[in-house]
Amino acid sequence: MTRKVVVVGGGVIGSAIAYELTSNPQWEITLIDENENPGSGATAAALGVLMGIISLKTKGRAWTLREASIRRYHQLIPELEELTGLSIPHNKDGTVKLLLDEEEISRYEKLAQLRASQGYSLQLWDVEKLRYNCPELDIAATAVKGAVYSPYDWQVSPTPLTKALVRGAITRGAQCIFGEKVIALKVNKDSGRCEGVELEKYSLSADYVILATGLGTTPLLTPLGVDIQIQPVLGQALLLKYDNWLHPEGFNPVISGDDIHITPLSDGQFWLGATVEFPSGQQSELTPNSDLLHKLYQRATEFYPNLTQATIMLSWSGKRPHPQGKSAPVIERLAPYPNIILATTGHYRNGILLAPATAQTVKQMIEEM
Ligand SMILES: Cc1cc2nc3c(=O)[nH]c(=O)nc-3n(C[C@H](O)[C@H](O)[C@H](O)COP(=O)(O)OP(=O)(O)OC[C@H]3O[C@@H](n4cnc5c(N)ncnc54)[C@H](O)[C@@H]3O)c2cc1C
Repeated sequence: MTRKVVVVGGGVIGSAIAYELTSNPQWEITLIDENENPGSGATAAALGVLMGIISLKTKGRAWTLREASIRRYHQLIPELEELTGLSIPHNKDGTVKLLLDEEEISRYEKLAQLRASQGYSLQLWDVEKLRYNCPELDIAATAVKGAVYSPYDWQVSPTPLTKALVRGAITRGAQCIFGEKVIALKVNKDSGRCEGVELEKYSLSADYVILATGLGTTPLLTPLGVDIQIQPVLGQALLLKYDNWLHPEGFNPVISGDDIHITPLSDGQFWLGATVEFPSGQQSELTPNSDLLHKLYQRATEFYPNLTQATIMLSWSGKRPHPQGKSAPVIERLAPYPNIILATTGHYRNGILLAPATAQTVKQMIEEM
């Protein structure tokens, strides 16, 4: 059956949804973003660390979304590269999480057992193994007690990924409208249906409207009498260049510890991130706090002293969409107008990780309607 679906928001979530929906050739998909370049919102700031198998989430939706996403990523990246001819830089060496106390070690020992029963490998490393695999780490100075290594949790560069998702969606028949803002949702109160979206100069009809609008969600919902507040949580990160980083036998995973991610890229470059900055009551504008960025850098150099020799190439910030009063992510049909699906109202710190599973969930929701 032909269905017209409008996806509003071309960040990683909306782009993943548009791509996934085009797998049904009978559906007409339109992806809209107010920016000329999709993926310019929170997605552009992200480090693309995919902490799925290594996450402490073990049951319910939090785990099933993570598992589905990680599984899908392993097919999705080669599938998109082949379909679009675009390269999507990604790190297949997995993720190392540093363990800072005995309690953490026993928590991850239990998690490793559970993951083994679910068919995934998580390896517990003692200090000797960690020293060999991550020789840049100053274990003595930082009192690291060991690590857990997840070979299946990759890292992917969010902007090239989003571009490939958009290109893939277009290749499979989606229409894209970039540089135009959706100013309102056209709803019919009598029928309880959303009939389409209004842009500045025209409107589009739709059978289903998917809101993947991140921080742009609340202004679209308020006129409908729906109060869902999405709070911006700022994050800052750095691009470093250090050509002498030691990595044995070419093994160069993401290393995460004390909420600091070191993400190796090509050409001796690294992303280092990210701060977590909530708005305070008095602030009208959420601006990057330079002290917090400095603290992040200082702490990273305690873990990896050689980073003091790295050149800081760039610093940037972005705002994560964080739902207030609801757990992230919100993927649901809107109560008064069930053909509106909220699909990215706050993936918060895991939007890149959860994009593929979000897209699959939305597809399933449409199929079931
Ligand atoms: C510093 C930092 C590091 C991060 N690192 C990671 C990480 O390692 N791993 C991870 O999984 N996540 C990470 N995240 C979180 C991740 O970036 C977000 O969860 C994710 O990008 C959210 O994607 P999105 O598509 O929902 O939002 P966005 O990328 O913000 O996309 C929303 C889009 O909607 C468009 N839009 C809004 N309103 C309208 C409208 N009315 N009309 C048309 N278009 C509209 C906007 O232009 C925008 O392009 C990080 C975030 C930050 C800030």
